[in-house]
Amino acid sequence: MEIRMEKCKELKQKPDQKHLGFGKYMTDYMFVMDWTKDEGWKDARIVPYAPITLEPACVTLHYAQETFEGMKAYRTAEGKIQLFRPEMNAKRMINSNARLCMPEVPEDMFVEAVKALVKVEEDWVPSEPETSLYIRPFMFATESALGVHMATAYKFMVICCPVGAYYAEGINPVKILVEDELVRAVKGGTGFTKCGGNYAGSILGQVKAEKMGYSQVLWLDGEHRKYVEEVGTMNIMFKIDGEIYTAPIEGTVLPGVTRDSMIHILRDWGYKVNETRLSIDDLMKAGHDGKLEEVFGTGTAAVISPVGELRYKDDVITINDFKIGELTQKLYDTLTGIQWGKLEDKYGWTVEVK
Ligand SMILES: *Cc1c(COP(=O)(O)O)cnc(C)c1O
Repeated sequence: MEIRMEKCKELKQKPDQKHLGFGKYMTDYMFVMDWTKDEGWKDARIVPYAPITLEPACVTLHYAQETFEGMKAYRTAEGKIQLFRPEMNAKRMINSNARLCMPEVPEDMFVEAVKALVKVEEDWVPSEPETSLYIRPFMFATESALGVHMATAYKFMVICCPVGAYYAEGINPVKILVEDELVRAVKGGTGFTKCGGNYAGSILGQVKAEKMGYSQVLWLDGEHRKYVEEVGTMNIMFKIDGEIYTAPIEGTVLPGVTRDSMIHILRDWGYKVNETRLSIDDLMKAGHDGKLEEVFGTGTAAVISPVGELRYKDDVITINDFKIGELTQKLYDTLTGIQWGKLEDKYGWTVEVK
């Protein structure tokens, strides 16, 4: 793929690596590529990060034909920069796009675009502990027309921003509210895709949870409101009586790269991982019976997020005395060890950019 480069007149001042937060500081450049029905992908370019203009009748603003990905570039102690399983993000975007009737960005183009942008922005990849460069590839319809249809023009873009540890206070357990009324996904819907629409529909649940003093929502299945699915932006795993339980990938849950990696590692360590439907009643019962040993969310942004409390209606359980579990900590250390190049990457998951 040929990528045209348009240089910035002036580069931005880089933020203090100790106070990066999440998603606040965009880098100097962005990757852009256009697709039309007649010509396919064209004009791949890396240009200064800047606002884009859209027609008010742009179909995305009305019908939400938009998909995205989330991944990171990590700087190792030797100064190398590496990605983590980028082909998984590329494949997932292909699946998301297929569901939304959007053209695919072929896997090699996707990975090449991400690598090219990260190379240009290498000085933006931070080196402080637990910091990384968050990468946000996304795609949307650009056609201007008000009829609902598969659009004839799209844009694929990649932007990035240096980020700190997701939780500034370190990985402390979070409180999660089990949502018993609203639902995020149903079978046959778009739950397995990373599309903006899924998030738009989930914010009300999030607001409700926050009002009650909870930081995230645990969604139940859309049909029965009975089986545990996932958290707002994370998959979730439960350690019950020594075994691990997590929702199966059956069209409603997002197939997380972190989820898949944790399952690999856990099985490698000899744990039984059950990708199976687990009812909220069984989960709460396990909590009351003292069998629910650890609960943790998994996702690229936070890596792993221990859960210290679950509320379902009026029933509340505390997990592991509101402390991070031993296995949760070990998984965090192992995965981040591989991502930052501190541990041997025996699974072959990291991809060097430079
Ligand atoms: C992105 C996302 C995840 C986590 O996926 P990772 O690939 O591990 O980052 C989980 N659930 C939802 C709804 C997501 O959007």
